[in-house]
Amino acid sequence: MDEPASLPTRVHRQQAALLAIGAEWRRYEGDVDGAVRLITETAVTALDVERASVWLLDEGRTKIFCEDLYERAARRHSRGVELPAAAYPHYFAALGSEEVIAASDAHRDPRTSEFSAGYLTPLGIGAMLDAPIRSGGRVVGVLCHEHVGGERGFHVDEQNTANYLASLVSLALELRRRLESERAVAESRSLLRAAFEATSEGILAVDPEGSVVAYNQRFVEMWGVPAELLGRGGDAGPRLQYLAGQTTAPEAFVTRVRAIFSEPEAESSDLFELRDGRSVERTSRPQRLGGKVIGRVWSYRDVTQRRRMEAALRASEEQLRELASRDALTGLYNRRHLHQHLEEELVRSRRSGRGFAVAMLDVDHFKRINDEHGHQTGDEVLKAFAADVLGRLRRTDSVGRWGGEEFLLVLPETARDGALHVLDELRAHVARPREGLPRFTVSVGVAAFPEDGAELLPLIARADARLYEAKAAGRDAVR
Ligand code: GH3
Ligand code: MG
Ligand code: MG
Repeated sequence: MDEPASLPTRVHRQQAALLAIGAEWRRYEGDVDGAVRLITETAVTALDVERASVWLLDEGRTKIFCEDLYERAARRHSRGVELPAAAYPHYFAALGSEEVIAASDAHRDPRTSEFSAGYLTPLGIGAMLDAPIRSGGRVVGVLCHEHVGGERGFHVDEQNTANYLASLVSLALELRRRLESERAVAESRSLLRAAFEATSEGILAVDPEGSVVAYNQRFVEMWGVPAELLGRGGDAGPRLQYLAGQTTAPEAFVTRVRAIFSEPEAESSDLFELRDGRSVERTSRPQRLGGKVIGRVWSYRDVTQRRRMEAALRASEEQLRELASRDALTGLYNRRHLHQHLEEELVRSRRSGRGFAVAMLDVDHFKRINDEHGHQTGDEVLKAFAADVLGRLRRTDSVGRWGGEEFLLVLPETARDGALHVLDELRAHVARPREGLPRFTVSVGVAAFPEDGAELLPLIARADARLYEAKAAGRDAVR
């Protein structure tokens, strides 16, 4: 047994060390690692041992990790050694008992003898005093004091000091946890703030009374809100009036906001127009804390661009549909569309009992026009002819290009006589002399539903036959 110190020496040593750490302690606020190093340095002096160390259990309590080891002679700190729990079952069981382990003969004490060959002998350790470190009501680690040399007893006052120093480690660990959670909170606040400002949505958060809690710059820009309406806790009334005043329907806006606001749990999403032409999509959500509604977040997205693109898309789809039903050269309906139109006309006529007329028109000697003036001029003639027909149509009539220089005209609610009259006027008009174009004429065959045919094909065949008659009669004629 190594020679123990006398009581006054021992007590004086401990008191001096504890007084010193008391004076130093506050310098380590916020520096948990420094505080732990201060504790191990204090421990070697207070308990007059060669080595003192702080070990912490992992979450699963499968191993213990050395946070700091202080060696007195070398005045050296080190860390990082790990011991698996499975290799030292007696020691870990003793740690779990939450009692101080005072092993005056560490090689023989059943709680520490597991360390004898691999640890105590190589380091020359003869005695150990281990005080549990507690946190949240359980043992989370241990403060070890290791005496290098032979056996050595640890008195009750020394065990108390070890416990006291271990509780200082707990305090430092609590501090670390608090600092970490404060950092986490600060981090999530800064993330939130960055996201809040990075989004293209204007955001306004209010409390249950409607007072401003937070808003982003985008919100201010979007609405051009004057600063005095955004003071913290400012009255909601003027702000609401201001926002409503920018919309095309202020009263509806106010009514809607009041309705949403009167239901703390309500979520909503709608769309409104601003007076300057912008379209804004608004969503509103309750803000909750621990299940309780503590306010409401309004967010506004400028969807003007999107709406314009949607409108343009609709328009171009409409245009495509229109294009698909038109003839490229003359702009009149094409044969496919005419067919569809004729079928509809037939159905309508059958239902109403009122007849309709169809006329087949064919430019006379068109081959000759092409041959004498060129294909280009032939095209111009077709366009001029199409313009003539369009210019003389009634609103209800429709005309399309049936093929090459053949056109088909549909005249709803028109009897054969009436159609003959209209078409003869057209024929005469077409035959007039023209500036910059060769003179040309047209021949026309007219057939009426149902007298000349109760189905489309016979009806059109009849108009075709009459067109042939007009040609045979010398052209520039209507039959
Ligand atoms: P008819 O008085 O008997 O109708 O004589 P025509 O020469 O008009 O009759 P035909 O049907 O024999 O000739 C039609 C010509 O129209 C033949 C074709 O080359 C021409 N043609 C068809 N489509 C077009 C077109 O889009 N542009 C031009 N320039 N010519 C066309
Ligand atoms: Mg012809
Ligand atoms: Mg022809």
